[in-house]
Amino acid sequence: MIRFCNLYSGSSGNSTYIEYNNTRILIDAGVSCQKIVKGLAELDVSLDTIDAILITHEHSDHTKGLTTICNKYDIPIYATPKTWAQMSLLKLPEYNHVAFNANEKFEVGDLSVLAFPIPHDAVDPCAFKIFAGDKQISIATDIGHVSEDVYNNLAGSDVLLLESNYDSNTLIYGHYPYFLKKRIASDIGHLSNESASKTIKRLHDETGLNNVILAHLSKENNFPELAYQTVLSEFDNVPNELKISIAARDKIDNVLVI
Ligand SMILES: [Zn+2]
Ligand SMILES: [Zn+2]
Repeated sequence: MIRFCNLYSGSSGNSTYIEYNNTRILIDAGVSCQKIVKGLAELDVSLDTIDAILITHEHSDHTKGLTTICNKYDIPIYATPKTWAQMSLLKLPEYNHVAFNANEKFEVGDLSVLAFPIPHDAVDPCAFKIFAGDKQISIATDIGHVSEDVYNNLAGSDVLLLESNYDSNTLIYGHYPYFLKKRIASDIGHLSNESASKTIKRLHDETGLNNVILAHLSKENNFPELAYQTVLSEFDNVPNELKISIAARDKIDNVLVI
C-alpha cells in the first residue's frame, strides 16, 4: 500500500510525505520542524520513523526545517552535490549527508527514486519520480517551463504533484514589483496555471494520467478555484476518471491511498 500526503505547499513552505510498505520519506522540509512533526502526527507518523528526506533544491521554502530536524533527529538527507554545497550555510551534520545525481536511479528502502533536472533559478534543481511497486509518483514543483525532457520524465506517472503557481493575468496586473514578476514568469521561474494545464491535458491524452495534485500555488497571484478551472477548461468533456485536487498551503491534505 502506498500512502501519499502533501503536508504543506507554496512559497511559505513545502513538504510531501510518501509511504510504501515499511519505507517512509519526505520530499523537502520547507517549514519548521515543529510543523512537520504536527503534520505527520495527523497521519499517525512520528518524524523519527522517516527513512530519508529528499531535497529538490536549496531555496528556503524547501529547506527551512532541516537544521532543527538534524539537531533533533538522525535522518539521512539526500541532495545533489551542488545543492549540498549551497546548503552548507545550514550546517547540517556531515553524517546525515547523502548525495545523489540526477538521472541515476537510487533506492531508499522499498522505494526507487529517480531525480531529473528542471529549469528553475536554483543551483541544481530537480524533480523526483518515486517508484513504489508498479506505481510511479512524480513530484515536480518550481519549474520555469515544461521542456520536452521534463515532459518525457513526467510521462508514465500514476500520480503527479505538479506546480500550478500563478495565473498569468493575476501576476501581470498584480502588485508585485516588476523584477519579481519577471523572475516568476521567466523560463527558470515558476509554472503558470496555463502551462500546468496544457501539460496535464497532454499527459492525460498521451499517457493516461488521471490523478493530479496542483501544488505550490502563489498566495498573491493565484486562486485555488482558478487553477482548478484552468485545468478543466483544457477539456471539451472532462473525463470522469480525471481527479484533480489542490495542495493546501498550510493544512494537511487528504491522504491518497493507492
Ligand atoms: Zn524554488
Ligand atoms: Zn519553492
